[in-house]
Amino acid sequence: MRHALEFLQPYFLGPSAENAQVFEALLVELVRDHTFWRRNFHPEDGPSIRTSAEHTGSYVEFMDRMKTELYGLSAELKRAVPFFHPRYIGHMNADLLLPGLLAGMTTMLYNPNNVSEEAAPVTLDKELEVGRQLARMFGFSLDETSGPCAWGHLTSGGTVANYEALWNFRSVKFHGVALKAAAATQAFDPPDVGPRTKALSAYSTWELLNLPLSSIVDLRRAVARAYRAERGDGAFGAFAAAVRSERIESLGTAGFFMRHRDLKPPCLMVPASAHYSWEKAMKVLGFGTANLIKVDVDAHMRLDITSLRAALAEARAATVPVLGVVGVLGTTEFGTIDPIDEILSCREAFRADGGDFGIHVDAAWGGYLASMFRQPDGSMRPRDAMRERFEHFPSPQVYGAMAALAQVDSITVDPHKMGYVPYAAGAFVARDRRVVDFLTQKAAYVFDLGDSDQEVPMGQKLRNLGQYILEGSKSGAAAASVYVTHKVLPLHSEGFGHLLEQTVHACEYFYDRVLAMAKRLVDVAHVVVPFEPDANLVCLAINPRGNTDLAEMNRFGRELFADMKVDSTQPLQVKRFITSYTSLLRDNLPDAQAKRVVGEVAIDPASFCVDAGPRPGCADHVFILRHTLMNPWVLSERNGKNYIDRYLAYLEDRIRTLVGG
Ligand SMILES: *Cc1c(COP(=O)(O)O)cnc(C)c1O
Repeated sequence: MRHALEFLQPYFLGPSAENAQVFEALLVELVRDHTFWRRNFHPEDGPSIRTSAEHTGSYVEFMDRMKTELYGLSAELKRAVPFFHPRYIGHMNADLLLPGLLAGMTTMLYNPNNVSEEAAPVTLDKELEVGRQLARMFGFSLDETSGPCAWGHLTSGGTVANYEALWNFRSVKFHGVALKAAAATQAFDPPDVGPRTKALSAYSTWELLNLPLSSIVDLRRAVARAYRAERGDGAFGAFAAAVRSERIESLGTAGFFMRHRDLKPPCLMVPASAHYSWEKAMKVLGFGTANLIKVDVDAHMRLDITSLRAALAEARAATVPVLGVVGVLGTTEFGTIDPIDEILSCREAFRADGGDFGIHVDAAWGGYLASMFRQPDGSMRPRDAMRERFEHFPSPQVYGAMAALAQVDSITVDPHKMGYVPYAAGAFVARDRRVVDFLTQKAAYVFDLGDSDQEVPMGQKLRNLGQYILEGSKSGAAAASVYVTHKVLPLHSEGFGHLLEQTVHACEYFYDRVLAMAKRLVDVAHVVVPFEPDANLVCLAINPRGNTDLAEMNRFGRELFADMKVDSTQPLQVKRFITSYTSLLRDNLPDAQAKRVVGEVAIDPASFCVDAGPRPGCADHVFILRHTLMNPWVLSERNGKNYIDRYLAYLEDRIRTLVGG
């Protein structure tokens, strides 16, 4: 183990700030470089702050107040969560990679705003390059000359990236309907357009709602070309304005559906294990959470494909448009990975039946795992080659999901989670960058001219980033942080993937040792891993032997956890380990799964109920301990014991004490 960890030593500041000297030296050097830069911008101007200022009363007083506050803050921050330490195995957080930390701190001094190139001549390019780096990791094509070309950018986090996915899907989904309505207002009906080469008016609403992105792009161009051919370039502005005014973005959701009475409100399908940001997204875009369909999960806490098929068939039968299906690559609570490959097959079948929907992968947590699967030359690493490095990983399901990423429409990934860079850095990556033409009205107009001479090249358009994304002003420092990290540790198996391999090793080690611990505790408590880990997150359900009530099991779990949670009323140092917990909600589990999960810890399934009211001992959730094994040092040893051994010894001891007493 020790040897395997050696390569990691320069990566982080370290649990004991072992790399403090190099960190500080670099930081000082980079800060000085910044001050020289200031001085060399018109040095002839001379200073505005006088040397003697520091002797004035107001200067001294200000400095006094500032220092008091800063020292106070620094002191208070000692109550922050020690994410950097291998005794912390709670949330999706660990030490920060030095390159990203230093790049972010340095760039902050220059304060670039990545809303547009004008405010960020250096870092906006880096942000778009980060988009390409991530796209490459997922297997998207970056070829600008043929086929879909990917693009991506940073967001404040996974939440906003998820909003953006839905925003993108909406802009494409309803465009065809707006196009047809606008043409009707102009008494214009181009013949032989679109995938079925027929008159625009001959397309049914359902057909227009179920065109894939590439067909919508083509249809839009064909209609624009036909309009200009028939009515001349000069009249085209009126048509473009008519299309604009018919769009859902102009009319609003309510207005659009009032206009099209035959249309049913669209739905979005997510697994029951999806992050709560999807509910917020449905609220924000005005589609409503009632139209968020939660698809059942299977015994591995992965989206159940049979249930997805059933939900799609139901939507099809009721002519409810499906905005999209979301697969989660690394669920927040359990780290499990949905069968992305099978979601794609479902779409094939749905398309054969005249339907269509976008596929988004919420890989906020697990996206960076893709770096392990990508070889330096860009190809997928064969599963056999990967299997040699691990005991269980990657399962055929996980490998299948990873290999399928290249075909989905868009992906959310959080550099500030498994990318080990500071907040705020999420990312949205889309497989076909032409989607941006549906996002701004202004640029769309230019594009609508359909004249290649007048078309603004995509690369140039994206430099006005703020026009195509949800956010406005945004941190150039975050972009620099992610960019430099990816340059130092490229997103393939020999770079970033090598680091993440350690997290999977840690998880496999943890899993094996937990099974051994469960055996030792067999007379004391039931200790169960409710879902086998798909990568690097392990949950534990623990029930004292003899207890059959869920409420009592949850009480026991909370008592156990009380010693392992951050508690602002106590000094941090009294905590020997810090973990996290999650509640497995009855509401989110199909009956069979609910029964299995509690059955494994000998709980009476009747006490696991949606409504916890009916009898004492019932609960609507199962309390489980959650361990994120992303800290790079959990396998580092002292006296022959690594942090996982030490944690599990501690946990075993706590369980015995609590059950005994
Ligand atoms: C963390 C997470 C999110 C939200 O990301 P933020 O960066 O916290 O906004 C969304 N989806 C999944 C699966 C996540 O793990």
